[in-house]
Amino acid sequence: MQIALTLAIGGALAFGGLKLTSTAFIITTIAILVASILGNILLFTQLMIPLQNISAALTKVSGEPTDVIPPNPNGHNFERNGLKPLLQLIYETASKSGEETSKAAIQDATFIDSALDQSQAGIVMLNAQREIIYHNKKAPVVKGIDGKPRLELIFDDDKDDLKLWLAECDEKLVHDEKLWLRVANSIVGTEDRRVYDINASYQKGSKAEVVMVFFDRTEVYQPEDDELDFIAFAAHELRGPITVIRGYLDVIDDELKEVMDNEQKELIKRLVVSANRLSGYIANILNASKYDRRHLKLHLVEDSLANIYDSINDDMQLRAASQNRLLSVNIPPDLPTIAADRSSLSEVLANLIDNGLKYSFEGGSINVTASADANFVTVTVEDHGIGMPGSVVSNLFHKFYRSHRSRETVAGTGIGLYICKAFIESHGGQIGVKSTEGQGSTFTFTVPIYATVADKLSSTGSSNVGLIKDGNNWIKNHTMYKG
Ligand code: ADP
Repeated sequence: MQIALTLAIGGALAFGGLKLTSTAFIITTIAILVASILGNILLFTQLMIPLQNISAALTKVSGEPTDVIPPNPNGHNFERNGLKPLLQLIYETASKSGEETSKAAIQDATFIDSALDQSQAGIVMLNAQREIIYHNKKAPVVKGIDGKPRLELIFDDDKDDLKLWLAECDEKLVHDEKLWLRVANSIVGTEDRRVYDINASYQKGSKAEVVMVFFDRTEVYQPEDDELDFIAFAAHELRGPITVIRGYLDVIDDELKEVMDNEQKELIKRLVVSANRLSGYIANILNASKYDRRHLKLHLVEDSLANIYDSINDDMQLRAASQNRLLSVNIPPDLPTIAADRSSLSEVLANLIDNGLKYSFEGGSINVTASADANFVTVTVEDHGIGMPGSVVSNLFHKFYRSHRSRETVAGTGIGLYICKAFIESHGGQIGVKSTEGQGSTFTFTVPIYATVADKLSSTGSSNVGLIKDGNNWIKNHTMYKG
C-alpha cells in the first residue's frame, strides 16, 4: 500500500512537469516510503495502542470473558500519553454502576422477600441437597436441633409422602407436580395446628429444585376435625347403649325364633343389620379420631384370615341377605397365618364388604377371595356395582371423602376407607382399588405373613409395647417390617 502510494506520488510529480533524473526519482520514492512507514508507526503508537487499552479496559468492566490483561491506569506510560484520566473514569463509572446494580438487586430481593412474607400462602424452596434455601413467614418451617430450618409436616397416612416423592423424582423424573390435601403441621388437639393443601413442583437441575406452596386451609378443615372430635365424644357415649341393643336383639332372636312369624323374624333381622351397621360407624369414628391423635394401638398376634372372617360372617351374610345381594366368600383354610390385630382386620373386611353391598345393585354379587405369596396374604373384595371414575378413585382414602353420587344416594360417613388404609398400613400391608364406572370395583389389601415378621414380633414381647412408637403411643409396625 505504502509502495503503491509512493509510486503514485512519484509518478504524479514526474507527469506534473518536474524533471527528475532517474536516480533522483528513486531517492525521492524511497524518502516518501520511509516517511510513510514512520508516519504509520507513529499513528499506531499514538492512536492504536491507546485505543486497544481503552477497549481492554471496557471489556474488563463489561464482565465479558477475555484473556486480555486490563490496563493499569497508574502505569507511567498512561501518565505520559494522557490516557490515565480516561482509564480511571472508565473503572470508576463501572464500579459505581456495579454498586448501584447490586444495591438495586438487594433492594429488589428485599422487596420480593417482604412481598412474599405478606402472602397468605407459605412458600418453601429446596435445593438439590434438599436443604431449605428459602421460606417465607407463612411456611410451616421450624428450626431443627442442628439449627437448620426444616419442614414440620404430618402426612395424613403417617407416611412421609414428601420423601417418597422426592426419591421418585431423584430416581427417574426431570419435572413433576404434586398435590397433597389436608396435611397438618401437628397432631389434632395441639395448639397452633395448621392444616394445608400443598402444591409442589420439581425441576431437576434448577437452583431451587423443589418449590412448595402451602395453602393454609385450617379454617376449612379444622371445623371438620373438631366436629369429628365432638362426634367421637358422642360416639363414645353411644357405644354402651348400642351394645346393649345388639345384645337384646340377639336374645330376642334366640328366644323367640320358635314363636315369631316370618314377618316378625324379618323385622328383627333388619333391626340387627341396622344396629350392627351403626355399631360399625361408631367404631370407624372412634378409630379415626384415635388415629388422628396418634392414640390408636394395634395388638398383633398370629391369627388366620379365615378365623378372623368367621367372626363377622353371620353379620355380613345377614346384611347381604337383607339387601338382596349375594355374598360369596372364598378364603382357603390352608393359607399361611398372618400377623394381625383381629378387631382391626375384621373392621377392614366389614367396611369393604359393606361398601360392596351399599354401592351395588339388587341381586348383585360381592366376592371375597384370598391368596398368598412368599410374604403377604392378599385379599380382594369385588363387586359389580356402580363403580367409580378415576377422579373419585384418587381421593378415595381421604378422610370424609364421599363421591357426589354416593352423598346423594347412600348413607355413610366417608371415614370407612380412611380407617381401612390406616389399619392396613399399620399392619405393614397396602390397600388399593381398581374400579370402572358403571361396572364395579375391586378393593385389594395385603397383610404380612406371620412367619416373615415373627422375629420382630416376639422380640417385642407379648404386649407389643416395642411396636408402639415412643412418645405418641402410635404404632408404626409397617416401618419396622420394612427395616
Ligand atoms: P362411606 O361409604 O361411609 O361414604 P367410605 O370411606 O367407606 O365412606 O367410602 C368413601 C366413598 O368411596 C364412598 O362414599 C363412595 O363414594 C366410594 N366407594 C367406596 N366403596 C365403593 C364401592 N365399592 N363402589 C363404589 N364406590 C365406593
